[in-house]
Amino acid sequence: MMFFDITPDDEFYKCENVPGPTKEEIRALVISKVCLTDEDVVVDVGCGTGGLTLEFAKRARKVYSIDINSDAIKTTRKNLEKFGLENKVEILEEEGLSAIDRIEDFTKLMIGGSGGNLKNIIETGYLKLPVGGKIIITSIVLETATESVEMLKELGANPEVVNINVSRGTILDRGVMMKALNPITIVSARKE
Ligand code: SAH
Repeated sequence: MMFFDITPDDEFYKCENVPGPTKEEIRALVISKVCLTDEDVVVDVGCGTGGLTLEFAKRARKVYSIDINSDAIKTTRKNLEKFGLENKVEILEEEGLSAIDRIEDFTKLMIGGSGGNLKNIIETGYLKLPVGGKIIITSIVLETATESVEMLKELGANPEVVNINVSRGTILDRGVMMKALNPITIVSARKE
């Protein structure tokens, strides 16, 4: 295993009713926005399959992975064990806002799922981040991105918005046919 590589999508265990993993190319961009060092503590709200959790666990000191779906918790655990990273991660079957309310020592906050609680999770999480900490929200729904931007502006942050459109090539006899993946919007901000 090359420790700092981005793990290919097809190396993850998957579970039918659990979304993810976040596509490899998107994970690479999220990693570049999070700017991790081995001193960081990351909270991953809505860890799903564990796609992003796995990338954080390779690079950070500690990760809290949170999901309300027990199958997501099991799948994330299985994926961490596959790569020998389970010791770095505290996996919690819990609603994101209540976890963020309780956890004190994080420096980076990833929100990949939030149910109806997006604004509260952003507000509580952003206020708890240390100066220089980062918050990242990935969204497949436009409203998640715009609500995130509004909330971050209200909190005095200066959000960055990136839309990522990835197409992958399928090699056919007559040439390479590109197939588009769902576009993802990444909203991020540094705590000022
Ligand atoms: N980034 C993940 C995929 C995230 S899918 C990966 O790479 O594998 C989004 C997840 O958010 C789902 O598993 C869903 O159960 C979870 N979720 C939605 N609302 C939540 C909330 N309020 N608290 C915790 N988890 C939540």
